[in-house]
Amino acid sequence: MAQHTAGRQHAAWQPNEGPLRIALLGCTGSIGTQTLEVLEAQPGRFSIVALAARGGRIAVLNEQIRRFNPLVVAIEDESERDAVDFPADRILTGAEGLQAVATLPEADLIVIATSGHAAIRPTLAAIEAGKEIALANKETIVCAGELVIAAAQAQGLTIRPIDSEHSALWQSLQGSPGIKAVQRLIITGSGGPFRTLSAAEIKEVTPQRALQHPTWPTMGGKITIDSATLMNKGLEVIEAHWLFNLPYDQIDVIIHPQSTVHSLVEYIDGAIVAQLGMADMRGPIAYALTYPERPALPFPRLNLAQAGQLTFEEPDHERFSCLKLAYQAGRAGGLMPTVLSAADEEAVAAFLRGDLGFVGIARTIEAALAAYTGPSTVSLEGIEEADRWARDYARDAIVNSGKSR
Ligand code: MG
Repeated sequence: MAQHTAGRQHAAWQPNEGPLRIALLGCTGSIGTQTLEVLEAQPGRFSIVALAARGGRIAVLNEQIRRFNPLVVAIEDESERDAVDFPADRILTGAEGLQAVATLPEADLIVIATSGHAAIRPTLAAIEAGKEIALANKETIVCAGELVIAAAQAQGLTIRPIDSEHSALWQSLQGSPGIKAVQRLIITGSGGPFRTLSAAEIKEVTPQRALQHPTWPTMGGKITIDSATLMNKGLEVIEAHWLFNLPYDQIDVIIHPQSTVHSLVEYIDGAIVAQLGMADMRGPIAYALTYPERPALPFPRLNLAQAGQLTFEEPDHERFSCLKLAYQAGRAGGLMPTVLSAADEEAVAAFLRGDLGFVGIARTIEAALAAYTGPSTVSLEGIEEADRWARDYARDAIVNSGKSR
């Protein structure tokens, strides 16, 4: 884990240093609200200097403003400014607002819990401003991993992952003599709600059924469908490649329906180190916020005897071809992961609207990857262009598949 061992020294936090000042991007979403629960569980340790909300939910934001008293608030949409209970001269809006919050001079640590591509530019700006980063946004690493990791290395920064699997890998790598001692990373996945269905049954599944995630109940719609297709695991493989600097043939996925083992590291001597816990994102969030320390936390704990049997099985790449497509895009590199991610977003949205069958999600992504002949150099503009191209391509392909049905 080159960038982690090369990173700056993290000394233990001392109360006389004052609270660690946090800017939270995506404060009203699932990870955002759970981040605030983690902060409240450790009084005096943190302060919130900025809250940035995307996609409405102003009532939730107003409640957070009352509880955390930030210096600055950012919202997506200028038209919602009047609805925010906060001094107008300290409300920022749009992409510039997000960027300003990510680079706020008063912030020590930036938590990036904004979903989608909107997080990429603010994350890079925060790193370039020398901020510590706790990152829950997938697209940032999937699409811009090359840029983000290079920028972090130049600053001597560790990207602190908030995804449960990457947090588990990060925790299991603590004390490792170096990345050369790692045989492979093993990312666990629940297998989603259709793990035991036949290929014929999978063709008939509905959005309602796909939205019932077996072990992580509080996730949003897009990530729940990505769990059902295994695209979520595929994106996590690409993220692990960048975060831990390992080639794809040293990153494996194993299906673990209980979601108790959150991921594992196999070392060259054959030892496997794993991280276990409840399916509760507040654990990975807390680790990212307090690394390298481990604070006492009041959240529910895993009872091993109650957990009982833990089982593992190989993923089925035929029934769940999205995983295969993600490896393919990751190995191809360049802008292919962007094409993968953007085509997936369009296909999942079409599935949720009822315009595309479940199996059509993988078919749409596969077609987009095969058709992309644009540039491969990773730049912010290149990512935006490839993203636009893939969305247009996927939308056309979905409309045409509807016509031929
Ligand atoms: Mg995950």
